[in-house]
Amino acid sequence: MRLTFLGTGTSCGVPTIGCQCYTCTSKDPHDKRLRCSALVETETTRILIDCGPDFRQQMMPQPFRKIDGILITHAHYDHMGGMDDIRPYCQFGEINVYADPIAREGLLQMLPYCFAEHRYPGVPAIQLHEIHKHEPLRIGDLDIMPIEVMHHDLPILGFRISPLSSDHLPQPSLAYITDMKTIDGGELDYLRDVDTLIVNALRQKPHHSHQTLSEAVDFAKVIGARQTWLIHSSHDIGRHEEVNASLPSDIQMAYDGQVIEIG
Ligand SMILES: [Zn+2]
Ligand SMILES: [Zn+2]
Ligand SMILES: [Zn+2]
Repeated sequence: MRLTFLGTGTSCGVPTIGCQCYTCTSKDPHDKRLRCSALVETETTRILIDCGPDFRQQMMPQPFRKIDGILITHAHYDHMGGMDDIRPYCQFGEINVYADPIAREGLLQMLPYCFAEHRYPGVPAIQLHEIHKHEPLRIGDLDIMPIEVMHHDLPILGFRISPLSSDHLPQPSLAYITDMKTIDGGELDYLRDVDTLIVNALRQKPHHSHQTLSEAVDFAKVIGARQTWLIHSSHDIGRHEEVNASLPSDIQMAYDGQVIEIG
């Protein structure tokens, strides 16, 4: 199983429009962060996690092949603003999109023309599936367990993803959590023994709906994954290279375009 970080930035991306700060003026490509999204792939299955407004740009360098499912963490624009741009992938058939009841409602409001009785030809062909925390689903050869995290007072989904094993042995799994501020203790059971953790770290200063860097590091230590990658960062966090040098080697900031192998 392979994960590609398509975007690792917060809602306005890095650099931020009009900003001349230390991070935004960096020449290092690791300091260019599109809105958060990731591709999870096996030999036969391809899942997209979130579909933000940078989707088109993010997919341009990727091989053009079917997307078997899109998992939506929540209905904020930076996580689903690119949904209309999935049109080219509809030539492989309807696209299965998975969202919890709140995010499903958000998709219906944002894309009413995709669900109208008489659709304009060429609009995205979406098969919308309502999913719920702790109710596992399977897409191709991947097992997915939705978990709940709190984005201030909004419950949103994170996902634990594991490849199906032919020999019934446990396979290394990943967990993808974005936009979390807090998590209920009961959810931690679903993250036990996860191999690779991906979790949000906005900046050093507190924020009402996102974890800070130190909160993310503390959370990573509680989970104890072999490797943790930090995402959804703003320009306020500083430059990639310097932040990573200040962190333990098993907890590092991810960067756009980075590919990691799990298992
Ligand atoms: Zn976000
Ligand atoms: Zn800046
Ligand atoms: Zn959000």
